[in-house]
Amino acid sequence: MAHSCIHWFRKGLRLHDNPALMAALRDCKELYPVFILDPYLYNKASVGINRWRFLVGTLKDLDNSLRKLNSRLFVVRGKPEDVFPKLFNKWKVTKLTYEYDTEPYSLSRDKTVTTLAKEHGVDVIYKISHTLYDIERVIEENNGKTPLTYVKMQAILKSLGPPKKPIPAPTVEDMEDVKTASSEKHEKEHELPTLEELGHDTTDVFEEKFPGGEQEALRRLDEHMQRTGWVCSFEKPQTSPNSLSPSTTVLSPYVTFGCLSARTFWWRLTEVYQGKKHSDPPVSLHGQLLWREFFYTASVGIPNFNKMEGNSVCTQVDWDTNPEYLAAWREARTGFPYIDAIMTQLRQEGWIHHLARHSVACFLTRGDLYINWEEGQKVFEELLLDGDWALNAGNWQWLSASTFFHQFFRVYSPVAFGKKTDKNGDYIKKYLPFLKKFPAAYIYEPWKAPRSVQEAAGCIVGKDYPRPIVEHEVISKKNIQRMKAAYAKRSANASESPSKKQGVKRKQPAITDVMKKKEKKK
Ligand code: FAD
Repeated sequence: MAHSCIHWFRKGLRLHDNPALMAALRDCKELYPVFILDPYLYNKASVGINRWRFLVGTLKDLDNSLRKLNSRLFVVRGKPEDVFPKLFNKWKVTKLTYEYDTEPYSLSRDKTVTTLAKEHGVDVIYKISHTLYDIERVIEENNGKTPLTYVKMQAILKSLGPPKKPIPAPTVEDMEDVKTASSEKHEKEHELPTLEELGHDTTDVFEEKFPGGEQEALRRLDEHMQRTGWVCSFEKPQTSPNSLSPSTTVLSPYVTFGCLSARTFWWRLTEVYQGKKHSDPPVSLHGQLLWREFFYTASVGIPNFNKMEGNSVCTQVDWDTNPEYLAAWREARTGFPYIDAIMTQLRQEGWIHHLARHSVACFLTRGDLYINWEEGQKVFEELLLDGDWALNAGNWQWLSASTFFHQFFRVYSPVAFGKKTDKNGDYIKKYLPFLKKFPAAYIYEPWKAPRSVQEAAGCIVGKDYPRPIVEHEVISKKNIQRMKAAYAKRSANASESPSKKQGVKRKQPAITDVMKKKEKKK
C-alpha cells in the first residue's frame, strides 16, 4: 500500500542519519515533513532569544534541504494532541514516523499522539537516532540497573559493542516516487517562524556566533575533523575555560537539536583515530560523547531526574532561598569578574566552555551562594544554545555534588581558577570591557586595587562595578560544613542504582561475545 505519511521532526532536525525519515519514504506516495511549534516547549520563559534564533535558522536550513528534494517543511502551531487529528484527516495520513525521544514530557506526548494515530488508522513508526545506543537496552544490559559511574557505563557499552553506523541522507532518487503537495495556501499556513514570533525584544540581539542548521553542523564537523593532530591529542581537562575563542568543538548546540547525529560525530572521530595514537575516554572526544550517553542513561533510569526532591540518588541539601544572590549571579553582578565574564558570555553568545560551566555552577551552589542547582538549571535552559533536559540536569547534579560526584570539599575558587589559563585576564576584559584598564594584578580581584588604581582604570568598585557579594574564603568553608551535614543525613543506600522494574538482562548474547566465539571457531 502506498502511504500518505507525516514525518514529524522534533529533535533530529537533519536529513543525514535519520532512519525514521527513511522509514517514512518506504512505500510512500505523499510525504508531509512537519515541525510543531508546541507552546509547552517553545515559550519565552524557557527559550531565550539566542536559542530561538538557532532554532529558526535550523528550520530554515531544513526547509531548504527538503526543497532540494522537491519537498518542504510544514510548520504547524499548536499542541501536538490538537494538531494531529486535524492533519490526519486533512492529508488522509496512513503513516506517522518520528525519532524516539527519552525526555519524560516527550514520552507522554508521544504516547498520546500514538493513541490518536491508532484511532485514525495511522501506523506509527519510531527509530532511535538521538543517542549512540538504545538507552533502554543499555540499562537492560546492566540487569535493569542504571549505571551511576562512567566506569560502569564504559563496561556496559563495551559488552554492547560500538554504536550503529549512521545512514546517509535521502537523495533525489530516493524521493522519485514521493510527492509533497504544496500550494500558495500552504506557504502562508505553514510558514517558517520568525525571530519576533516568540515575543522577544529583537532590537538588541547579539552577533550570531553559531548559526543553526545541519549544513553549518556538517561544515563545523568537517573543519574540526581536518585538524587530526588536535582531535587525536584532545584531552578535555587540558582545554581552557577562558580562551578568547572556544577551545572545544562547540558542536553541542548542533547535537542537541539533532542538526548533527551523535553517531555521525562518533564514526568521523573513529576514522580520524584510525591507525594513529590518540587520547581515550573519559578525556578524548569519543569520551565526551560517552558522557552524553552516560547522562542520558541516568536520565532514563532515575525518576524525577531534573529535581532534588523525589530523586532517589540525589543528596537532599538544605539550600538557601536568596533571590538577590540568584539575580546577581544570573545578571553577572556578583563582583567576581571571572564569574561575571562567564555569565556575560553565556547571555551574549549562548555557549560557554565546560569548565566555565563548572566554575559558575559550583559558585551558585555548594561553593558560594548555596542556592539549589535547579535554579541554575533553569537559567542554563533559557540561555544555552545547547540546553538539553538530560545533560543539563545531570551536569548540575554533578557540579553541586548532589549526585555522581561527591567530593564537595573540592571547591573552585572564583579568583584562582581562571588565572591558571588566563593570567592577564584577557577573557574578563573581552566580556567586561569596563574593567579593561585594570592591571593584571587586580583584574580578578578589582576590590583589592588601591583607590588610585581604580581611578586610573576609570572604574570604582562599589560604584561602577559591584563589590563581591560574598567573601569566598569564609563562605566556602562554611558551605563545606553544611554539605558535610547533608551527606551525614544521606540514607545509606542513596548511592545505589535505581532498578527499572522489568529490567532483566536479555538472554541474547552481546556482540562482543559473538565475536569472541567466532574468533575461537577460527
Ligand atoms: P566538546 O568538548 O567538543 O564535546 C563534544 C560533545 O560531547 C559535545 O558537543 C556534547 O554533545 C558532548 N559532551 C561534552 N561534554 C559533555 C558533558 N559533560 N556531558 C554531556 N555531554 C557532553 N551540555 C549540553 O549539551 N547541554 C546542556 O544543557 C548542558 N548543561 C550543562 C550544565 C552544566 C552545569 C555543566 C557543567 C555542563 C553542561 N553540559 C551541557 C555539558 C558540557 O559542558 C557541554 O556539552 C560542552 O561544554 C559543549 O561544548 P562542546 O560542544 O565544545 O564540547
